[in-house]
Amino acid sequence: MKVIDASGRPLDAEYSVEPERDRLALILESSSGRGTGQPRRNGEYGPALELLIERLKQQEAVLVSALVDSRSTLSLPEAARRLIDRPVELSGVVDIPAFCKGLREAQRPIGQKSAATKRGNNVKRIRLVVQVQGYGPQDHDLLATDLATADETSFEEAQQIVDTMIASDPTANSITAYQRCLELVERRALGTGGRQAVATSKPVRLQAARRAVLIRSEGRCENPDCGQRAPDVTDKGLPVLDVDHVHDIAKGGRDHPEQMIALCPNCHAVKTRGKTRHIMYPKLLAAAAKRHNDRLATADHAHASSLRDAGGFRF
Ligand SMILES: [Zn+2]
Repeated sequence: MKVIDASGRPLDAEYSVEPERDRLALILESSSGRGTGQPRRNGEYGPALELLIERLKQQEAVLVSALVDSRSTLSLPEAARRLIDRPVELSGVVDIPAFCKGLREAQRPIGQKSAATKRGNNVKRIRLVVQVQGYGPQDHDLLATDLATADETSFEEAQQIVDTMIASDPTANSITAYQRCLELVERRALGTGGRQAVATSKPVRLQAARRAVLIRSEGRCENPDCGQRAPDVTDKGLPVLDVDHVHDIAKGGRDHPEQMIALCPNCHAVKTRGKTRHIMYPKLLAAAAKRHNDRLATADHAHASSLRDAGGFRF
């Protein structure tokens, strides 16, 4: 996976997220080829590391441990591969570039023979074990996608998440994908006691909540008076839909799919600026809640029938 910067450009650096016991591990692949005349691999290691740490900070993640993870150092004990000596709450890190520089400089001596005269490199494969509120080890795919971009999630990304889930579990479908996103949203709300992130004055919006709404929309405007297929498509042929908090999140609205709705650009404009917007609010709230509850009911039903199929239960 590649991390995409604020201008929409993917940086040349590969990363992945995988489960690690009850936590998640972000792996940033090494960079190589510098000054050798060979094509460089992962040439934007440094900027990618900064961007990933910045986005983890926005999620108020704790960096539990950071290790060099290259093949040549795996025989070393963990203590000899450590880049930090204690967990770091990233929301407290003011200077991200300086922090990342520290992570990189600490890599140099690791795996070096004691007689080595050359300084070791600072672009090694590293493993960052993180704890992110709401994300369990099973949510590695969701965290990887969330870190890739600062933009709001698109219909395409929401579809990709569904496809990835189906690829790893053939019994998955858009309803189960909706549920998984929802579970993350609810775990997060529980963990934070419902408060918004304190690190920034801007409320942190959960991509999982937006993604759930896009999955639920199936590419149609969720305003019951509209219900149209999105009137236009992106360059990739995907529907143009906006995800809206029916109650503005800045005014206390919840970041929860039950109170969020996918709208076509026309309906979104009416909801924001139209004279009839006040009539629209209660309708949209009711529609969002209904669509949400319908998905849950379908999921319960599917769960019940799978139990029935599996165990001959009688209902
Ligand atoms: Zn519409």
